[in-house]
Amino acid sequence: MILIMKSRVHTNTKYDVIVIGGGASGMIAAGRAGALGKKVLLIEKNKTLGQKLKITGGGRCNITNATYDTRALLANYGGAAPYLFSPFSQFGVKETFEFFESRKLPLVVEERNRAFPKSMKALDVVHTLLDYMKSSKVSVKSGTAVEKISHEKGRISGVRAGGVVYEAENYILATGGLSHPETGSTGDGFGWLSDLGHTVKKPSPSIVPVQVSDAWVHALAGRAVDGVQITFFLDGKKMLAKKGRILFTHFGLSGPLVLNTAKDISGWLAGGKVSAFIDLYPTMDIGTLDAHLTKIFDQNKNKLLKNILKDIAPLGMAPGLVHLLGNLSPETKVHSIRKDERRFLVDLFKALPVSITNLMGYDRAVVADGGVHLDEIDTKTMRSKIISNLYITGDLLDINRPSGGYSLQLCWTTGFVAGSNIQN
Ligand SMILES: Cc1cc2nc3c(=O)[nH]c(=O)nc-3n(C[C@H](O)[C@H](O)[C@H](O)COP(=O)(O)OP(=O)(O)OC[C@H]3O[C@@H](n4cnc5c(N)ncnc54)[C@H](O)[C@@H]3O)c2cc1C
Repeated sequence: MILIMKSRVHTNTKYDVIVIGGGASGMIAAGRAGALGKKVLLIEKNKTLGQKLKITGGGRCNITNATYDTRALLANYGGAAPYLFSPFSQFGVKETFEFFESRKLPLVVEERNRAFPKSMKALDVVHTLLDYMKSSKVSVKSGTAVEKISHEKGRISGVRAGGVVYEAENYILATGGLSHPETGSTGDGFGWLSDLGHTVKKPSPSIVPVQVSDAWVHALAGRAVDGVQITFFLDGKKMLAKKGRILFTHFGLSGPLVLNTAKDISGWLAGGKVSAFIDLYPTMDIGTLDAHLTKIFDQNKNKLLKNILKDIAPLGMAPGLVHLLGNLSPETKVHSIRKDERRFLVDLFKALPVSITNLMGYDRAVVADGGVHLDEIDTKTMRSKIISNLYITGDLLDINRPSGGYSLQLCWTTGFVAGSNIQN
């Protein structure tokens, strides 16, 4: 009874646009619509806006990928690329740089074209967007979750939040996906979009670390190794080899190389046993590596094997490698290591064994797959082709992409384009 009465409470204000969700795409969309003179209300479930944005890039925020050629950039968005030329021609990487740098947030570009705020603080990105919304006179209702979206005759008629019904001519849905739900992204938008008649591809963790069962990996938690090669196998059949940086965690493996292979791994796991081998010396063949170890052994004859692991393997790997030495004791004097034992070490360094048991869940995912197919969106405006006064942005869209700033660029592009194209 109380609920029914509450749901009848209407605000007297009618907005031009209501933005649901105060994450990356919602904030830029709201700011842009407001800057163009629209009366905007942004409703956010959390007390503070941009909770996920604050943890992006390990707190540094990989804000975009500085690939200025749109065709080259869009090659990273798989099958979605043909749909994205129009929105990216309105607001692409160049415009992202201009947007933030003109608001006193200079950016720097690191390897793999990854751009970050010079301050290296994701919080500064949040503040820039809050200032943008403030100067655009956006009203914000935070600490209030949207509970219901009402629609009739192919249009949204109102949203209920905190027992109050808010109404607008247009709505921007920016509630994000399912990764790191503690930030507020609990997938509410997917359910509403299905109810509104959209086809929503079931989400699954996409850019996500993998779980492995090997004690040697767990022993290296928190360490990283660069320039290695990892080769993946499904039931013993070679599937893929990649070179790069690997991060060891309490549960398994992470880092861009692994995160960006997670989608493939997920498919393989459905088909059988997935294993991998890490080559610590991909630029050396067996003979060259054997000669390299022989030289180091000759220089350290009277030391114990455990004390020269740091010299024969990449720095920081020793606590993991001691788990893999088999019959070769770490206490062995280097001068007494036999030729076959040295060869064992060479083979080991060329192929450290990993058994992959699973992907980590949404709580560890950077991005979750799934959402609304771009066939159902007019990507010139980000307007739904099914609900005439609804715009959809950010992680609610079914767009595959790797890590490296491509996700946030999608948020800036889709949010800005939605905010720019609100119909009167
Ligand atoms: C750990 C981590 C690191 C990442 N690092 C990077 C990176 O460095 N670079 C990069 O490009 N991408 C990165 N990403 C991905 C990027 O953060 C997301 O793509 C992006 O934040 C999605 O923005 P969004 O606007 O779609 O939604 P979100 O940022 O998820 O925001 C959605 C908002 O909607 C609110 N909301 C949800 N339901 C309701 C409701 N019912 N009522 C009201 N409000 C609601 C939520 O509270 C939330 O604030 C990272 C992701 C994670 C998890």
